[in-house]
Amino acid sequence: MAGSCVLCGERTELLYDDCRDFEYFMTNPANLVRCSNCRLVAMDPTPTRAELPLLYPPDYHSFATEGNPLARFLLGRYQRRQAGRCRKHLPPGGRFLEIGCANGDVLAELADQFPVVHGIELSDEAAAAAQARGLDVFCGTLEEFETDQQYDLIFMSHVIEHVLDPVATIARITSLLAPGGVVYLETPNVGSLDAKIWKQRWGLIHYPRHLYLFDRQTVRRLIESSGLETEAVRWEPNSCGWALSVQSELRRHGIDHSRAPRSRYYPLLLLAFLPMNLLDAAFGGTAFMSAVGRKSRG
Ligand SMILES: [Zn+2]
Repeated sequence: MAGSCVLCGERTELLYDDCRDFEYFMTNPANLVRCSNCRLVAMDPTPTRAELPLLYPPDYHSFATEGNPLARFLLGRYQRRQAGRCRKHLPPGGRFLEIGCANGDVLAELADQFPVVHGIELSDEAAAAAQARGLDVFCGTLEEFETDQQYDLIFMSHVIEHVLDPVATIARITSLLAPGGVVYLETPNVGSLDAKIWKQRWGLIHYPRHLYLFDRQTVRRLIESSGLETEAVRWEPNSCGWALSVQSELRRHGIDHSRAPRSRYYPLLLLAFLPMNLLDAAFGGTAFMSAVGRKSRG
């Protein structure tokens, strides 16, 4: 089943043919392959546009409101930090677009400070929730989004690994950026220590919903595929790579019988594995990474 890499066109090779979904228990007859040249990891075959919604159950975590108080606290803290990052990349009077804005928590943090704060969200339910908060959110895909606006910052947190064609996505983002504008994205790091240790059982493979998995080199290559300049690729400490892998293992071995995406003990795993970020950083990188690409001013 040799295919070609979306990023460099070279041959892909089978990486894992036995991934399973221990979060939502969806099935999909697809493997993970890796490019023999640039080492981009991809799902093979890529689902069609029509098949895509079938991989996301109605209780998918990005669309749902978090009920567990500790998880809610951690999520709130994370989103405020994300908004803080965005502020750093926005000039006074800056124009902001978030792709995959869910309920609009980051947009809400920025809406009072900047004149243009827009979101794009695929889920009808999440987009309606964001609109009900008075936020300017388009419900649909990036391809369907029409605007004359140019943006100083386009933000995309844990979205690029879900899209059908990341190269086309970055090209479209580049066309929406103002001269000197920035794309800031965050995505799992398949080069991380936890990814190397857990292999096909790594929680952030998030099978079958992560269609692409990047590392430091491939995310840089992606950004530069549309002529943007990579300004930074940084590790983002987060223990969810460990926590989710352990939760999946407890389910695989029948110790945890829960069918909920996250078990009640999950936030405690997140806290317990916080020190592993130090090991991750020392040996190959953390489970998440962020990347900044800038459009030239010329
Ligand atoms: Zn490649």
